Amino acid sequence: MMTQTDARRQVLVVGASLAGTRTVQGLRALGHTGPVTLIGAESELPYDRPPLSKNLLKGAWSEPAAEGIRLATPAELDGLGVTLRLGVPAVDLDTVARLVRLADGTTVEYDVLVIATGAAARPSPWRPVSGVHQLRTLADARALAERLALGEPVVVVGGGFIGTEVAAAAVGHGCRVTVVDPLPEPMTRLVGPEIAGSLVDLHRRNGVSTRFGVGVVGIEGKAGDLSVELEGGERLMASTAVVGIGSVPATDWLAGSGLRLDGGVVTDRFLRAQGAEDVYAIGDVARWPHPGRGVDVRAEHWTSASDQARYVATALTNGVEEGYAPTDYVWSDQYDWKVNAFGWRDPAGTSIVVGEVSADGRAAVVHADADGIACGAVTVNWVRALNQARRLLPAAPSAESVAEVIRGLG
Ligand SMILES: Cc1cc2nc3c(=O)[nH]c(=O)nc-3n(C[C@H](O)[C@H](O)[C@H](O)COP(=O)(O)OP(=O)(O)OC[C@H]3O[C@@H](n4cnc5c(N)ncnc54)[C@H](O)[C@@H]3O)c2cc1C
Repeated sequence: MMTQTDARRQVLVVGASLAGTRTVQGLRALGHTGPVTLIGAESELPYDRPPLSKNLLKGAWSEPAAEGIRLATPAELDGLGVTLRLGVPAVDLDTVARLVRLADGTTVEYDVLVIATGAAARPSPWRPVSGVHQLRTLADARALAERLALGEPVVVVGGGFIGTEVAAAAVGHGCRVTVVDPLPEPMTRLVGPEIAGSLVDLHRRNGVSTRFGVGVVGIEGKAGDLSVELEGGERLMASTAVVGIGSVPATDWLAGSGLRLDGGVVTDRFLRAQGAEDVYAIGDVARWPHPGRGVDVRAEHWTSASDQARYVATALTNGVEEGYAPTDYVWSDQYDWKVNAFGWRDPAGTSIVVGEVSADGRAAVVHADADGIACGAVTVNWVRALNQARRLLPAAPSAESVAEVIRGLG
């Protein structure tokens, strides 16, 4: 199947972050000459999110460093000939009239619509007067950095990548940190059981306390004087609470549009939204059929958003014959550990550990599916092993043969 292309069509991209910005850049790079409009709810120029929980949060807040995470300069966007409308969210989509209505009452027409509205932090169910922070935007990071710089006690609710990265940053500011998660081993879902335990040890060695397997019942008080109540009655006193309990796809504005919404905008394998013609969905907002795993996924990963933008830009300019093939890559920085995951982990499969995850060690875990075929790998502080896995996995080798190659790296 070949998608239809026409370089003069009017393309409207809603969501001016990674997926949206890479789409408009890709369209121009690949020769789209028609009008392109990029709409963003935030008034910020497009910026990159991973540094928000890493470099930007670690030291004293630096506005020049924050400027350094922009995905494009105003001059570059000007040069692309893109109409940029920032600080004005889309509020409604009419797929019959091919119109998007914005919060200021204006409408924008399109021939092709690319939905790239990403996700928002899952709202905190606990809302004391003040002191609860979440981390999704640059404004969130700025506000949180101010609190961490006080060096006062922090409770992090949620032991996912963002929660644990915030915990590591808070420790660096001299804060006493406790991470709470209702799952007994929250990091297992991120990196698998082989590495999860070592990651928890790493946090504990750095002074982080954990309360795993126990949920939060409530948070009371105000910034500087919070009480976080856990199931079972324990109370943790904190100056700041950070709630990192996942994200929700930003699809509210699409209610009633006729698009299929089910844990994101549901697409076909060409990333075309189901329920309307000439509408695509990419990045954190999209739920697409994963060819290897045989299920629909909403990947909340940088590489996925960036690759999907490139794919759709190609589809709209040169056409594509094959469905979107994902890279499945994610990384996390925790203290001086670089954790990388490529591919996926099959719950019905097995895993082979190479090396030893210790204080200053490096390790790789190769995941096999139920037939012993390598389907993913997680590495700690071992870029060469990661690169080997990335190189080998597309040919579907046995997990044992991939492990053998990695062992050979010495
Ligand atoms: C703190 C943090 C750390 C991360 N670290 C990593 C990491 O280490 N590795 C990794 O792989 N991934 C990481 N991620 C995930 C990665 O940043 C996301 O996968 C990526 O940002 C997705 O890009 P996106 O453009 O699809 O969505 P988003 O980045 O969510 O952007 C969507 C944009 O659309 C806007 N928008 C929403 N609704 C509307 C509307 N109605 N109208 C107009 N605009 C709208 C939003 O304001 C936003 O600017 C991290 C994310 C966060 C928040």
